[in-house]
Amino acid sequence: MTWKREHNYLGISENPMKPTTIRALALVDVRRFEIHELARPEPNAGEVLVETEAVGLCGTDFHIHSGHANYNLDDSGRPIPLAESPQILGHEIVGRVVELGAGVSDLAEGDSVLVDQGLQCMSAGLDSLCEYCASGDSHQCEGYREYGITGVPGGFAGVLGVPAVNCVKRDTAIPADVAVLSEPLGCVLHSMERANSMPTRYRFEQTGGGQAVQTAVVLGAGPAGLLFLQHIRRVSGFDGPVLVSDPNPAKRELANDLGGEAVAPEQLEAAVLERSNGRRAEFLVEASGSGSVYAQIPSLIRKHATVVAYGIGHRDAGLTLLSQVQWKEAFMSLSVGASGGFDPDGRPSIYRRALHLLQDETIQGDAIISHRFHGLDGLQRAFEGGNKDAGYIKGAWVVSE
Ligand SMILES: [Zn+2]
Ligand SMILES: [Zn+2]
Repeated sequence: MTWKREHNYLGISENPMKPTTIRALALVDVRRFEIHELARPEPNAGEVLVETEAVGLCGTDFHIHSGHANYNLDDSGRPIPLAESPQILGHEIVGRVVELGAGVSDLAEGDSVLVDQGLQCMSAGLDSLCEYCASGDSHQCEGYREYGITGVPGGFAGVLGVPAVNCVKRDTAIPADVAVLSEPLGCVLHSMERANSMPTRYRFEQTGGGQAVQTAVVLGAGPAGLLFLQHIRRVSGFDGPVLVSDPNPAKRELANDLGGEAVAPEQLEAAVLERSNGRRAEFLVEASGSGSVYAQIPSLIRKHATVVAYGIGHRDAGLTLLSQVQWKEAFMSLSVGASGGFDPDGRPSIYRRALHLLQDETIQGDAIISHRFHGLDGLQRAFEGGNKDAGYIKGAWVVSE
């Protein structure tokens, strides 16, 4: 499989009117950023040049920054140390088209676009899609790579060459720093669709049979948990109790505002028993990634419950935990990323749907973006404790100073 040339350190601008360099925030080692002056990329055929307007700051960015994760792998699957290969992070990207590559006719300079950060068969312009892209599982593509995660420079570069089919045109009904939530919301949509595609016993909709979910639980009220909560309420249309647990009082308060019943983790089991009249939950989402939280799951679920595993990590959680879930024959749904099929114009349909849910305010994004960081200085500050502020839920980098 051949990929088009990516944004690299070598492209040289030919038009003397255009700036020839960009200033990118490069992560050159664990917890160490440097501002690198790089050659401004040129759009290849089929690509557009996107100037970043806003980038959502994601747990993944913070994990890579702190050295807890590194998804830039060599051919043998070994993570390449940052000191050997610096990374430019940022994968929740909204930007403005500033230049069209050859052959692009369905975008124009000045368009604001949401970027699907996943490079897959459609991005590469392949005539025949791999089996995963063909089945609408684009983020499992056999040739999958991601801006800002797998070593391909991401939104913190400020300017990126992006395949036009990865760019979903948006109106400006909501600001760029809220539209960045389309990516995590796309992941949540994918996760819910995957769970709903299983022949589960308990369901939010009983059109295809099954019994009604009576009590739902969301573990973790970070951005993902709050998006799941809103999805359960406002997309699945569930009006029974949704208990949301989180140790952070600010997150619990927001969960209450968004239609959940927030509970501290140590009170969760008692609350679930009470609100479900002893039945326990028929539907549970794990959105914390914490091992100790995962350990609570067996005590919270009803037999044959649906368990959606979304958080990643679960350090220190032993595999015996799985046996306890197995005893209850839970339907476990595992998902990662924002896989989806392609619209007739080649765009990722799930990003488009996520964007529309935010634009028509079915999903309230504004409440989730608690912090905005301006300019490259502000962006660095976000990683140097800015995300530890009281009341921090999720940050967005706003490129303008
Ligand atoms: Zn993300
Ligand atoms: Zn593919």
